[in-house]
Amino acid sequence: MRKHIFNAGPCVLADVVRENTAKAVIELGNSGQSIMEVSHRSKDFEPIIKEAADLLKEILNIPEGYSVLFLGGGASLQFAMVPFNFLNTKAAYLNTGTWASGAIKEARLFGEVQVLASSEDKNFNYYPKGYTIPTDVDYFHITTNNTIYGTEILRDIDSPVPLIADMSSDILSRPVDVSKYDLIYAGAQKNMGPAGVTVVIIKNEFLERVTRTNIPTMLKYRVHVENGSMKNTPPCTAIFTVREVLRWVKSIGGVREMDRRAQAKADLLYHAIDSSKLFVGTVAKEDRSRMNICFVMKEGYKDKEADFIAFAGTKGVIGIKGHRSVGGFRASCYNALDIASVQVLVDAMAEYEKSIL
Ligand SMILES: *Cc1c(COP(=O)(O)O)cnc(C)c1O
Repeated sequence: MRKHIFNAGPCVLADVVRENTAKAVIELGNSGQSIMEVSHRSKDFEPIIKEAADLLKEILNIPEGYSVLFLGGGASLQFAMVPFNFLNTKAAYLNTGTWASGAIKEARLFGEVQVLASSEDKNFNYYPKGYTIPTDVDYFHITTNNTIYGTEILRDIDSPVPLIADMSSDILSRPVDVSKYDLIYAGAQKNMGPAGVTVVIIKNEFLERVTRTNIPTMLKYRVHVENGSMKNTPPCTAIFTVREVLRWVKSIGGVREMDRRAQAKADLLYHAIDSSKLFVGTVAKEDRSRMNICFVMKEGYKDKEADFIAFAGTKGVIGIKGHRSVGGFRASCYNALDIASVQVLVDAMAEYEKSIL
């Protein structure tokens, strides 16, 4: 039986994406080869990576003058690549959780880091506001969705300096004004595909800001832009699956439809949490993530949390255990999670509540 997959990453994938990938693993079209066997520099693969980039440009309405890259190393490598290329003297960061802290730690290897605001005082349960972006920094880095703590900024901010965003866990879940960003990166495995490939959207003009001369070849954005992500062997199979995800997103109505679905799923689950006598949300309401929905059991019932996870498991619900830094539960409702799965979770919550209260 297919499970209701609430895993925080890697994510659930649409049936058609899994089916088409499975077929291509056996044989890519009529090529007589598996997607795992084809040359990345062949007529079998080159149209795939090109279509993936073109589809992303179309779906996210990426303006002229930007490049789309498919790289290895995960979003975590971007934490280092961004400052290696662009931190010449000073950069500004928001500290909104574990991943943002990881990005800050790497940036400090390359220059001065100004943390403009942090929500660490309340265990990252809100998104900081009311800070001022200085104009004398090389760039400003934000994490749009905080996967572990369940906060999200659902709008594109204005920045007087180049804006860089880690969108790993909410990319493709809403329309984004890409023109406001100089660089966006996202590990594919949260919302866009399987693990093994990281998507980078970079404004070509921004490359002119690179002054450092000692950057290793594979860590230079310019090298990847000039070589169309083919400086070395790209993760061909993962890129194939990303293309399938993008085809699927387009076929169901693009990011507007993803946005509508994300809101519907989040409304359903948050409403269940807010009307429960047993469960309670952990995040400031105005900053709640639609992607990673964090909640716990109320005081006096904490010892039942493991029991509820087991109970939900009997309904086919998996992946709802909260990250150890928050505890309780985290239901990740990524793009390909069907609202029917959220309904199963909500029903399980109601049934469990009734059984113990
Ligand atoms: C998962 C995650 C990362 C790390 O991604 P990897 O691809 O595993 O390196 C970085 N940022 C955010 C927001 C994430 O959710």
